[in-house]
Amino acid sequence: MQGTSQETAVQDIRFGGDYNPEQWPEEIWLEDVRLMREAGVNLVSLGVFNWGIIEPAPGEYDWSGLDAIVELLHANGIGVNMGTPTSSPPAWLRKAHPEIRLVDAEGRTLAGGSRHGVCPSSPAYAEACASIVDKIAERYGRHPAVKLWHIHNEYGWANVECYCEASAAAFQGWLAEKYGDVDRLNDAWGTAFWGLVYRSFDQVEAPAAAPPGVNPALQLDWKRFSNDEHVRNYRMQREVIARHSEAPATTNFMIPNCEGMDYRRWAGTVDVVSNNHYLIAERPDHQIELSMSADLTRAVANGPWMVMEHSTSAVNWQPRNIAKTPGELRRNSLAHVARGADGLMFFQWRASRAGAEKFHSAMLPHGGTDTEVWRDVAALGNDLKKLSSVVGADVAADVAVLWDWESWWALELEWRPSVDLKYRERVEAYYAALWREHVTVDFAHPEADLSGYRLVVAPSSYVLTDAASKNLRGYVENGGHLVVSYFSGIVDEHDTDRKSTR
Ligand SMILES: [Zn+2]
Repeated sequence: MQGTSQETAVQDIRFGGDYNPEQWPEEIWLEDVRLMREAGVNLVSLGVFNWGIIEPAPGEYDWSGLDAIVELLHANGIGVNMGTPTSSPPAWLRKAHPEIRLVDAEGRTLAGGSRHGVCPSSPAYAEACASIVDKIAERYGRHPAVKLWHIHNEYGWANVECYCEASAAAFQGWLAEKYGDVDRLNDAWGTAFWGLVYRSFDQVEAPAAAPPGVNPALQLDWKRFSNDEHVRNYRMQREVIARHSEAPATTNFMIPNCEGMDYRRWAGTVDVVSNNHYLIAERPDHQIELSMSADLTRAVANGPWMVMEHSTSAVNWQPRNIAKTPGELRRNSLAHVARGADGLMFFQWRASRAGAEKFHSAMLPHGGTDTEVWRDVAALGNDLKKLSSVVGADVAADVAVLWDWESWWALELEWRPSVDLKYRERVEAYYAALWREHVTVDFAHPEADLSGYRLVVAPSSYVLTDAASKNLRGYVENGGHLVVSYFSGIVDEHDTDRKSTR
């Protein structure tokens, strides 16, 4: 059946980027939209950082700019990926509620002047988030331009863990819920060693700066808790949006470059898995790292996914920011598509004139349309129109590499056999060898169903739960080929030696 243009657009590969039009006068918006059409843009992320603009003072709202831009985009057939601006709280909120400020492991309270920098466990912050998200969702939730919700931005980017009193109290509550009885915690954590026994949950301290040798099981539960606090904020926002909108929602992951977020624990929370990926430009093998990121994201999604952010050329935040070579932009973007991405979004549409990211490349560079970057962007957008048939397609792989954020965390705690042993280095070594042999690889959790693979590789799978151990044994007993590297299956999920007497 021939669909309407809007129905057809849904099946196209999503193509576009973050659009922050607040930085320019309205006459520029008209040029923006004209050029978006020229490049085949069909989706833009709006309002990801605009809290300080749409709510200039507590309870006072200015929707004039956002209303106008939503209508302009809609009139031009460009969909909106509506952001919630909670990763960049306004200055007035920090002033009114100093307790929302992030406290680092050394006990320093972090200042403003940037984004993030807020405590994920703060009740005042959560309340303010719920309020602004409710207002945005109420206003735009049923607008036909809104195709997707972009909740927050990069959970855990600069505030994975907070060590303030509110966070410590929330951690104690999280532990009480997990273990029920403090003796169960003592048993799981092995606190008999050094006599570090707790007699009540409120005796447990967050693992801030301390003498060396902090209980590794305490550190692992702290990491799980810190991850879950961000999930809790996401779920809260998702529920608020669902009151006003039927559009799907996502948040942009950073697989695998945000060690503190265990995206396996996130996977079920989003309607569409979306990922940010930036090349580590200086690495000569950065193309392999890109492929690994895409394959890992597909594993988290368990199917198709989308790139929410990547760059058209250099970024601004690496030690040496290297421009892409001619053709590299299109090659990299299409590599994501080949590995299951149904959307290619960039940060950002038009390069900023001012602020921290003005040296970050964009779809429309400072130099305008007479630039190689623009020509590549427009060519890519028009190429994608011919690739609609791959939307929703599977990627077939018969080799799996095991991946587990908990092994990553645990392997790199202090006092291991060698500081030279790094989880990612080991995984990437095996992945790169397979990549160079043109072997398409899935990533899989050690507890996942592995029966469809002819080969499974376990690179330094340091943590194995009883269920994972049984799973791997069963895979081999059923004829599977398992390659296990050194320092695998050493401990359980509490960092307790698996082989010794229980
Ligand atoms: Zn805190």
